[in-house]
Amino acid sequence: MSQRSTDRLSIARAAYQDVPLYDPKRSPVEIDLTDNTNLWGIPPRAEQVLRESLASVITRYPSLYAGELKSALAQYAGVSADMIVTGCGSDDVLDSAMRAFAAPGEHVVSSLPSFAMVPIFARMNDLEWTGVTETPDHAINVEAMLAEPSKVLYVCTPNNPTGAVTPLRTLRELASRCAGVLVIDEAYIEFGGEAATELVHEFDRVLLVRTMSKAFGLAGLRVGYAIGQPALVLEVEKSRGPYKVNALAERVATAALTHDMAWVQEHVALAIELRERLSAELRARGLNPIPSGGNFVCAAVPHCVAVGQAMRARGVAVRPFPDLPHIGDALRFSVGPWPLLERCLTAFDEARAEVGAP
Ligand SMILES: *Cc1c(COP(=O)(O)O)cnc(C)c1O
Repeated sequence: MSQRSTDRLSIARAAYQDVPLYDPKRSPVEIDLTDNTNLWGIPPRAEQVLRESLASVITRYPSLYAGELKSALAQYAGVSADMIVTGCGSDDVLDSAMRAFAAPGEHVVSSLPSFAMVPIFARMNDLEWTGVTETPDHAINVEAMLAEPSKVLYVCTPNNPTGAVTPLRTLRELASRCAGVLVIDEAYIEFGGEAATELVHEFDRVLLVRTMSKAFGLAGLRVGYAIGQPALVLEVEKSRGPYKVNALAERVATAALTHDMAWVQEHVALAIELRERLSAELRARGLNPIPSGGNFVCAAVPHCVAVGQAMRARGVAVRPFPDLPHIGDALRFSVGPWPLLERCLTAFDEARAEVGAP
């Protein structure tokens, strides 16, 4: 007899008992500035390859470990192909890395606030997660992070959601003193901060995790990767398993890396310029946006949830972060073409007036 129930299935693994299905309840909206994807669209060669791909690409299995894509990524990152592991989005790479290095019950440490998926993946892998509150000026708290036991120490730079950049010397300090694997999430590295590539040559326990979802405009294809010494990425690859990058994704992502770099660089430069322009507009409204190295801007905004809802009613979605440590209520605005940001600022002004926010 089949039975639909929201009760937990008694046969399910104990570690999943209190794990809710990840569902941020996103609804369609005219202008979506919530997820920091590339609002200028897909690069031209990538689009052409997508359109011209034949059904035969889909009827066969993809390559086991995306060898062609790895070569293109290696070229882009300036490392050898045996230092790359790919995945179904960098989410998959992060999840696989946790499983590769931390056994159930071992610890993952990250800064707070940071990428919301980290505690979720820790939990899904039956790991203990500790968040260490950042300093009031949005720097990671190095000594407090190192004081926590960790098998995996996660740092995101530029950090999501604040945009704050962690200097290379701080990352080197963490790498030389942490007991486990230092995972550096460089999802936004094209937009600011220094790539930590030299650290993967200096340390055999540093993994740089990156994505093609942001600067490259390919979020829907789900292509992420990590850079580390060959023995380190091999462990991630084993825990990831074969066939995780689909055949179409591998083709399109490889095309973007080999033919679309001018487009990517041009739109990264534009995003940086407009990020500063948006920050200036927010300052002109009496706000204090955090200096950002990403393609987004985060600022303290009282009653952020109500303001966000009132903006959504006007067709513009931004991401509210209620009650962040040292910041309080905040909104994170993704950067895109200026006409969208103008609409966003108008909606923001009206929303604040409606909510009566100071
Ligand atoms: C967007 C984002 C990612 C990218 O995830 P994908 O699975 O590659 O789309 C990873 N880390 C951070 C901090 C992000 O904001």
